[in-house]
Amino acid sequence: MRFISTRGQTPSVTFSEAVALGLAPDGGLFLPETLPDLSAKWQGWAKLSYSELLREFFSLFATDIPAADLARMAAAAYTKFDHPEVAPLRKLDDRTWVLELFHGPTLAFKDFALQFLGHLYEYQCLTRNESLTVLGATSGDTGAAAIHGLLGRAHAKIFILYPDGRVSPLQERQMACTAADNVYALAVDGTFDDAQAAMKTIFEDQEFRVRHRLSAVNSINLARVLAQCVYYIWAWLRLPEGVREEAEFVVPTGNFGNVLAGWLVRKMGVPLGGLRVATNQNDILYRLFTTGDYSVAEVRPSHAPSMDIQVASNFERFLYFAENCDPARVRAVMAEFKKTGRYRFANLDRDNFTASRASDAEIEAIIRDVHARYGYVVDPHTACGFKGLATDRPSVVLATAHPAKFPDVIKQAIGRESTHPTLEALKTKPLEKHRIAATVAAVRAFIEAHG
Ligand SMILES: *Cc1c(COP(=O)(O)O)cnc(C)c1O
Repeated sequence: MRFISTRGQTPSVTFSEAVALGLAPDGGLFLPETLPDLSAKWQGWAKLSYSELLREFFSLFATDIPAADLARMAAAAYTKFDHPEVAPLRKLDDRTWVLELFHGPTLAFKDFALQFLGHLYEYQCLTRNESLTVLGATSGDTGAAAIHGLLGRAHAKIFILYPDGRVSPLQERQMACTAADNVYALAVDGTFDDAQAAMKTIFEDQEFRVRHRLSAVNSINLARVLAQCVYYIWAWLRLPEGVREEAEFVVPTGNFGNVLAGWLVRKMGVPLGGLRVATNQNDILYRLFTTGDYSVAEVRPSHAPSMDIQVASNFERFLYFAENCDPARVRAVMAEFKKTGRYRFANLDRDNFTASRASDAEIEAIIRDVHARYGYVVDPHTACGFKGLATDRPSVVLATAHPAKFPDVIKQAIGRESTHPTLEALKTKPLEKHRIAATVAAVRAFIEAHG
């Protein structure tokens, strides 16, 4: 299997090259040259364990990795999850299921991608006898998930910049209490934008980048999207027959990464009943799928911070298919969007996507209602998925984070806190953060000294 860029100006690459590169050199995103057809395969997958399913699915893409190596990585990928089923599907009533994606080490769904990516990175380092330095800037969740994906991995170091005092205390502890000697949590004296600007400048320095074998924690890495495909197939196979073809998967999404994975699974021939894009008040995707208007607005901080995003980078992968796999059209749309912050689709093929958006007040009300009705506590991101749930068909809501990660909103909504042993344990561990000025020079010097 080869991988191509959505912008059509990069020669095709192998799976391992696509993983190592992250972003294609022409600025596009990688996609499989052709999508495998799963319609004759999924029947045989119903009895597989989660890690066996992960292995079978990736063997269709990672054709340059020997089967035994892939099997070993798939078996190890989710051993740090705290539930034997990895992604348990929980039934709330006859037409409502919740797919719990928060049983990984950082209690959010990003662990599905980053735990496996950590193994892929380590594998590449070991087979090529190279080292790797991962540098990222985070406003919270991604940094924690990336750190836990690379914790203790051979030949890889990770430096994560975050704005000091502006991530939640629990998020900070997830990054800075790992006790791993290949992890550096850098508390930048500035905002998230300052941290990100410093990181971007460092990536532009070719000499430094090559010398340290610098790699980004990329939200657009194809391996992340593919790893997320697996839990859709897993959940779909666990639905009762009769419900399978009907059920709409409701997906809290910001960067379009989570829901894109489900859409790809359907395109590969697993007949999911439907897909809903569930956003918070930062609703660029809601506007896109209801009116065809794709236009950036200012990001307004919400109760569901990991979806406070206005440019949905993974949308470009959907666009490629929506524009009949024509890279010239993708380049034209993306160029206009970059220049004006807007693109109006005259007749975007919405391909049965539905969409919803939830305000902060609605998020609180939903957490209260779901708790009253089912005795089940959802986190603020998952709550967006419960907005206007269909009454005429079954739904599977993807639960993307454990509620204990957001104690304040939960307390406000239901009058008591939600807790989790992993988070409680963090509260007594020593914090190892490195305070650092928000300048390129300071970050470079730190990497020189510790890289
Ligand atoms: C990142 C994140 C999302 C959104 O995922 P996308 O890849 O942006 O679609 C939703 N919920 C939680 C808890 C997250 O951390």
